[in-house]
Amino acid sequence: MNAPLIVANWKMHGTRSQCVGLARAIVRQLRKQPAPIQVVLAVPFTALASVKRILRGSRIGLAGQNCHWQESGAFTGEVSPTMLRDVGCDAVILGHSERRQIFHETDAVIAKKVDAALGSELKVILCVGETLAHRRQGRIAQVITRQLRIALKGVGKSAIDKIEIAYEPVWAIGTGHNAVPLQIAQVHRRIRQVLMTLFGKAAGSRIRILYGGSVKPENAAPLATTAEVGGVLVGGASLKADSFLSIAHCFNGN
Ligand code: PEP
Repeated sequence: MNAPLIVANWKMHGTRSQCVGLARAIVRQLRKQPAPIQVVLAVPFTALASVKRILRGSRIGLAGQNCHWQESGAFTGEVSPTMLRDVGCDAVILGHSERRQIFHETDAVIAKKVDAALGSELKVILCVGETLAHRRQGRIAQVITRQLRIALKGVGKSAIDKIEIAYEPVWAIGTGHNAVPLQIAQVHRRIRQVLMTLFGKAAGSRIRILYGGSVKPENAAPLATTAEVGGVLVGGASLKADSFLSIAHCFNGN
């Protein structure tokens, strides 16, 4: 069984020196309490190289928050998977609802990015999740199944150890309204079914499913014991080392 995975998504927050300071505090505190958890920091592009230097010698992974699907070319403003590897990333977040909603990324575009990232040996943290309207219409399973099927269409069984799924209900991201364990367990079970249908029972049951959406130190503990929750993706509460680490420690029983 995989150790719980705790991902910090710093979004568009932090100058290089702020990101380095935060990374340093996280490394220092995690070193004091070596724990059976995996931690990944998803850092703004401009701070990746600086943060990589801080993470050297630790077991903390580094991730980009997005990438393009081409290796190189005339795509002004974009960053390729190869560039992320080159700067020291182990992983990339794809399909985040902010990318889907604000930047109009479709499932088809996300699928191309997933294939390209895996092709460059990056792990993929694939976000899926329904809006409040979908939930009210009773379309959670339909929406999530579609997002998974399309994004993972080109992924072969041999790549599944490089995939993490993050269930992030859109209505819970950055709103302070987190989903409750029962709601999360229901959707994670559905995600598991889809993964087992796509990759077979054994392979599909190995993929970790994280929860994300207003996770805070005050609500993290019950998530650690919720069925099918293999970790969390943390936005706002990952911008302070203390709150991020309190969340992480909920997942190692401390
Ligand atoms: C996120 O950025 O994926 C996220 C879950 O943000 P927050 O924790 O702030 O809701």
